[in-house]
Amino acid sequence: MSLENSILTEARRLGFIAAGIAAAGPAENLDLFNRWLQDGNAADMAFMERSRQIRTDVKNVMPDVKSIIVVAARYATNKEPGKGFSTYARGMDYHIVIRGKLSLLADFIKKQPGISTRVCVDSVPLFEREWAIRAGIGWRGRQGQIVNPKAGCCLSIGVLLLNIVLAPSTPCANQCGNCRLCVDACPTRAILDNGLIDCRRCLAYLTVEHKGDIQGELQIAMGQTLFGCDICTAVCPWNKMENDGILAEFQERLMPDAKEILAMSKEEFTSRFKDSTVFRTGLERLKRNAAIVLENT
Ligand code: SF4
Ligand code: SF4
Repeated sequence: MSLENSILTEARRLGFIAAGIAAAGPAENLDLFNRWLQDGNAADMAFMERSRQIRTDVKNVMPDVKSIIVVAARYATNKEPGKGFSTYARGMDYHIVIRGKLSLLADFIKKQPGISTRVCVDSVPLFEREWAIRAGIGWRGRQGQIVNPKAGCCLSIGVLLLNIVLAPSTPCANQCGNCRLCVDACPTRAILDNGLIDCRRCLAYLTVEHKGDIQGELQIAMGQTLFGCDICTAVCPWNKMENDGILAEFQERLMPDAKEILAMSKEEFTSRFKDSTVFRTGLERLKRNAAIVLENT
């Protein structure tokens, strides 16, 4: 078996639903990214502007990088989008899960002498989705998510940088065709052209990352949303698989409702969410969301 095949086979054995290889090099979607930034679509994520230069070439992250392995882990499709917590937030934090599995993959590869690696899971400024496309994981759907022809678009992505040349995988063509289900389903009209999102209007951004108030039509559009938004992924017709390939770590836990959140102490929040992506958002913002949900009710 070639080294490429044995790496990708090991990635699947570790539980990733898809894995592929891209040749390292300069980023190809800088113009699109710059336009998105200039138009203010990054909302108050100032780190996007600060990290712009690093993103231009993956060598800025690892100078001797030659190849990039991209993996995708599947979480469930939310059958009831717009109610409560987004599915990806109901299981264990994907950063922890993917980092752990990518570290095992790195150990497997480093059995060969002279290989060095760097694991990246939202931890360094990289265009993860561009690399996922170049590694053949899928295409960029209209709602900006990577869509894999077998596994759909409820995927968390991780990246492993390597200092050796590997044969790249074949990218797959965009197969959205005439479909606009995600664009039409978005309650805040946050989906722009070219798979870009106006974060100032996106509920996934507003309920998770945004630090200030949420007011007016956006507050109303939140409906029962406590954390994240699955609406534009849940409608995607490529989510055809049932629950196959969903990692055990992403099994859903019992989540609190808005009233329980408002009554929650810091200690209880830590105990319930310390291994969840909700923990990064913090209790204060979760309570802000819960207060809005009760007002909307
Ligand atoms: S996550 Fe929700 S608000 Fe954001 S683009 Fe998708 S449907 Fe619209
Ligand atoms: S819902 Fe339709 S347009 Fe949106 S990503 Fe899926 S296939 Fe593409």
